[in-house]
Amino acid sequence: MLFISHNLAVVRHLSRRVLVIYRGRVVESAGCDELFARPVHPYTRELLAAVPHLSAPPRRIAAPAGDSTGLAPGAGGCPFHPRCAFAQAACQRGVPPLAQVRPGHLAACHRWRELV
Ligand code: SF4
Repeated sequence: MLFISHNLAVVRHLSRRVLVIYRGRVVESAGCDELFARPVHPYTRELLAAVPHLSAPPRRIAAPAGDSTGLAPGAGGCPFHPRCAFAQAACQRGVPPLAQVRPGHLAACHRWRELV
């Protein structure tokens, strides 16, 4: 069964494998437990960080040192770079392909090695 939703709690409850899609492209794919426990792609991390928790204080995603944000939208490269806290100039060098970051876990990010 293919189940499509923005409700991450329901996705987590129903799914064995999760594909995260941004602007029509799969940006991350992993088994459900793996994806929720160890997300790699910055978009997935933002989605999971946006889920409200009654007992937790608000969380912010920390970008690694040396990042430069504010790259121009529409300049090519990674489709997520205008919104990405981890974006660098190198992120505009092309659409990142899905790479295996762990067995059965794929992410489409030029910087995945720094984010695993
Ligand atoms: S390739 Fe760059 S802009 Fe795209 S998700 Fe990865 S870090 Fe962010």
